[in-house]
Amino acid sequence: MTLTEFKYMSDQLPNTERMPTLFVGHGNPMNAIEKNPYVEGWKKLGTTIPRPKAILSISAHWLTEGTRVHVTEKPKIIHDFWGFPKELYDVRYPCFGAPIYANAAKKLLAGTGIAGDTDWGIDHGTWSVLVHMFPNADIPVFQMSIDISRGHRAHYELGAMLRPLREKGVLIMGSGNLVHNLGKIAWEKNAQPFDWAVTFDLQAKDLLNDHDHNALIHYEKLGPKAALAIPTPDHYWPLLYALGTQHKNEEIQFPVEGISHGSISMRAVQIG
Ligand code: ZN
Repeated sequence: MTLTEFKYMSDQLPNTERMPTLFVGHGNPMNAIEKNPYVEGWKKLGTTIPRPKAILSISAHWLTEGTRVHVTEKPKIIHDFWGFPKELYDVRYPCFGAPIYANAAKKLLAGTGIAGDTDWGIDHGTWSVLVHMFPNADIPVFQMSIDISRGHRAHYELGAMLRPLREKGVLIMGSGNLVHNLGKIAWEKNAQPFDWAVTFDLQAKDLLNDHDHNALIHYEKLGPKAALAIPTPDHYWPLLYALGTQHKNEEIQFPVEGISHGSISMRAVQIG
């Protein structure tokens, strides 16, 4: 650790107004280069929330054994998908990293086995959203991975440990999808959402409005619709990180809603 980094450990970073936390349903990587109501919602968010000092993204696309956090000054952009048009591979998001804030996150999670990482970059779970939300790429960004060996509650608790970063100007953004069933996806244009996708998405909205975090953590108990909505938890876990950062009775809003490709919820959640 350099002297500068030491000087700016989490307790030394200047306090700011409390930042909101976001969960964003990123959906199809093509959203990075398309115009649709979802990306319009992300654009608007970039102009309505306070300007962050740094962005901490917890993307469904960085799954590891043990929690990892980016500590690089200049992260690379990762095009982590196959078979899409060249135009999508040409997208760049030339942001800087935020090692000082990453070290603050590391300190908050000390004792959990968290380790710094310099290999991963900014994956499409992050940049396909940020190219719309903060198109100038002039806010430092770092990612934290999702430890696949942990259970649902542990992800929620790690989110809670990150909560103090909100008072340091860090925008914590979980990026996944509340309903994400690729096996049932409907590729035809204007595909109608499946009933189970709509029902589960709205049930989750009610639980979010009721601040019923326990029900959302133990979603398997919500029945067969939950099993269809969340066949694997990777895209759901980022929501649990976001929920962990919520203060008691803190306001919640849904700046983006809708179901894409029949089985993908594009719901965005704003806490605070
Ligand atoms: Zn994804």
